[in-house]
Amino acid sequence: MPGRTEGIVLKSRPFGEADLIVEYLTRDFGIRPAFAKSPRKIKSRFGGSLEPFTHARISLMGREDANLPRLTQSDIIRPFQTLREHSGGFVQACGLAALVMKLLPERETHGAPDAFELLLWGLDGLEREPGSSFVPVVFKLRVLALAGYAPSLSGCARCGRQSEAFNFSFYPRDGALLCGDCKKDAPAIKISAALKGLLGSLQAFPLEKLARIKPGEKLLSELKGFVETHFREGANITVKPARPL
Ligand SMILES: [Zn+2]
Repeated sequence: MPGRTEGIVLKSRPFGEADLIVEYLTRDFGIRPAFAKSPRKIKSRFGGSLEPFTHARISLMGREDANLPRLTQSDIIRPFQTLREHSGGFVQACGLAALVMKLLPERETHGAPDAFELLLWGLDGLEREPGSSFVPVVFKLRVLALAGYAPSLSGCARCGRQSEAFNFSFYPRDGALLCGDCKKDAPAIKISAALKGLLGSLQAFPLEKLARIKPGEKLLSELKGFVETHFREGANITVKPARPL
């Protein structure tokens, strides 16, 4: 039986007349669907706590092997209501939830607290600054790392050189850097020293310190291009566009 934990609602769908199936990212048990009895019947605090992106303290009851534990309690810790009511922010938050569901396996408890904290960080950032282009790209980079798709940026993957003077390129299909001397004939992205430094910080910094990093517009757009290409080519992942829940 899963038990008590904290959860963030990724999405929910109606089930029968008045019930809901709620997909959670939980702090302790990873991604878990849960069955919520009759939340749609009356406008209640319980029902309100099942809105998308709500962070709540929850209790899941059912056998350990039960596919669908029952949600017996849900107390809101943070509603993220402002985020939900901002149309642009809402769509961006749907994008974060879609990435979590696409990249992280269901019921995986290993690394669950990190994934949970990352999603909270992303939702918090989007609620503070809806339309942010920094939060979604950093979220994508970090969730890729949690899923085992971190780009390798520690130096040339062939000769091990670190110096920026060697003119690095990133090879998305290998997920790694090669220096100017080791370069090969394959699709590559030129990577500036500034971007390499930024990526290093974004991967290594604790979440609470990421807000200190403020790349300029040019570097941010370089970052976006890099993460998108790595996502598409290296991780070889296609994610359906976010859709209303
Ligand atoms: Zn090299």
